[in-house]
Amino acid sequence: MTHIAIDLGTTNSLLSYFTEDGPKLIPNALGEYLTPSVISFAGTTLHVGASAKARLVSHPDDTAALFKRTMGAEKPYSLGKKSFTAVELSALLLKTLKQDAETYLQGPITDAVISVPAYFNEMQRKAVKSAAAMADLQVARLINEPTAAALAYGLQDKEEESTFLVFDLGGGTFDVSILEVFEGVMEVKATAGDAYLGGEDFTAAIANHLIAQAAVSSNLPPEQVAGYPQLQHLAEQAKLALSEKHEVHLQLDTPPLQLDLVLTREKLEEITENLKRRLRAPLDRVMYDARLSPEDLDRVVLVGGATRMPLVRSWVSKILRKFPEATLDPDQVVVMGAAVQAGLISKNSALDDVVMTDVSAFTLGTEIAQEVNGIIKAGYFQPIIERNSVLPISREHIFTAMVPGQREVNISVYQGEAPLIESNLFLGEIDVPIPYNKKEQENIAVRFSYDVSGLLEVDTKVLSTGKRKSLLLKNLAGELSEKEIKTRLKELAQYKVHPKDQAENQRLRAHIEQCYTMAKNADRDILMQMLRDFDALLEKQNSSDIEAARESITSNLAAFEANYVH
Ligand code: AMP
Repeated sequence: MTHIAIDLGTTNSLLSYFTEDGPKLIPNALGEYLTPSVISFAGTTLHVGASAKARLVSHPDDTAALFKRTMGAEKPYSLGKKSFTAVELSALLLKTLKQDAETYLQGPITDAVISVPAYFNEMQRKAVKSAAAMADLQVARLINEPTAAALAYGLQDKEEESTFLVFDLGGGTFDVSILEVFEGVMEVKATAGDAYLGGEDFTAAIANHLIAQAAVSSNLPPEQVAGYPQLQHLAEQAKLALSEKHEVHLQLDTPPLQLDLVLTREKLEEITENLKRRLRAPLDRVMYDARLSPEDLDRVVLVGGATRMPLVRSWVSKILRKFPEATLDPDQVVVMGAAVQAGLISKNSALDDVVMTDVSAFTLGTEIAQEVNGIIKAGYFQPIIERNSVLPISREHIFTAMVPGQREVNISVYQGEAPLIESNLFLGEIDVPIPYNKKEQENIAVRFSYDVSGLLEVDTKVLSTGKRKSLLLKNLAGELSEKEIKTRLKELAQYKVHPKDQAENQRLRAHIEQCYTMAKNADRDILMQMLRDFDALLEKQNSSDIEAARESITSNLAAFEANYVH
């Protein structure tokens, strides 16, 4: 049975599996490895991936992107007349990826290793599992993205002892981790990150700059200019172009919007200064947690599409005083590592000598009350399993009832780094009855056991009686019940995903529409005609004619886009 690996990314998702020759990427229905993590509805027709991404510009109200950022939260996304949660949108994406894998591997797929940011808390991890369940996928293991990346790189040099830092700047998340490899054993020493920082923030910074400039050149208020989606698209193109060349010429002439501007790498440095400051904090923290200085690092590895930006690369080399390595494609590293993990799970013999350990990304603990100036105050946090502990782990802490004669102790479980529980994440609670003891305060042993699958077991024991009571934290808030999952599954099943031959046509239609939004009057007529002709051709269903049209339209659109960014 093949376990597939899925990098469920904020901006792009990837698929792979493990073969005797190592990890191998699986292309989607378009033959591409990157599937944009974007969902769009055209009436009841579902678009997933590239065609949905193109519709972000032409149909922003029917399209959702970056939803991974709100996994585990209740935030609804309105797509047309329907409302979806991030879990449901992820389920639609996973379902498409699963179908792509089944087509490519020519058989049913039931199990997957899915990568998640190291900084995902329990609720977010549960949300990913719920999404997988809705897509009819069993999660064989959730693997932290930097851990997966390390596995992809670690495999290559497993004989040598080394300490390395994984710098992962994706579309919407930033993770930085320190790992040690010794005799084939890989250990994550520390992880830190920012779940709200990524390449899209660089795009947003450029877009803000373009909005300010376009407001001046079009003589319009910036709020009005900000409402035009063309500028977002232009900003993304400018960002990509600036990874290749030193300056880029941006032009837009779609009345009332006017823009004619040269953007240089120096200007990009200037307008993203605050983003670099935000990259700094997790980097400092991970070095502090691992008690390392830059000289102690043997290698620095870059992961995530946004590390292609020269300004990010030079900044990393400056801070860590080392040239970062990027021998693997930064977009593919995580999914390749996840495939190695999938291979490990299905016990592929090529991997016998690789052992993996993982760490807890957060501190786990309980609420305690303390006496402050003679007054008992609740709300303080007592850590039991410290962050960055190597997993699996089991730790015990003895608590004392506040007063003699107390009949019950409440153990509330929290995850986080703040001294007060109000700033940490509540995971669950258990009430432990204690015998009436009017003279002394009773003692209760509380044991936390935590493993890589994300299950936290809380065992309590009243020391005087030996009575035990346990709590298994798996039904966390944000997780769906079996019944809910079944109902949701049924609902999601009604959305038909495009068959392979249609995906390409849908993407091209969406691309024409995208160009239309950027075009001037005369060009718009041409694009409209192009769309009509193509639709007429699709009606006739002659595949060779359609393919020929696709080719000519694609090159026409490329020439057209070159007018706007060059
Ligand atoms: P990921 O989530 O790892 O796929 O990263 C996606 C992010 O990387 C997006 O914000 C992309 O805009 C960005 N990205 C991809 N390629 C490049 C490039 N050549 N230059 C700058 N940013 C890029």
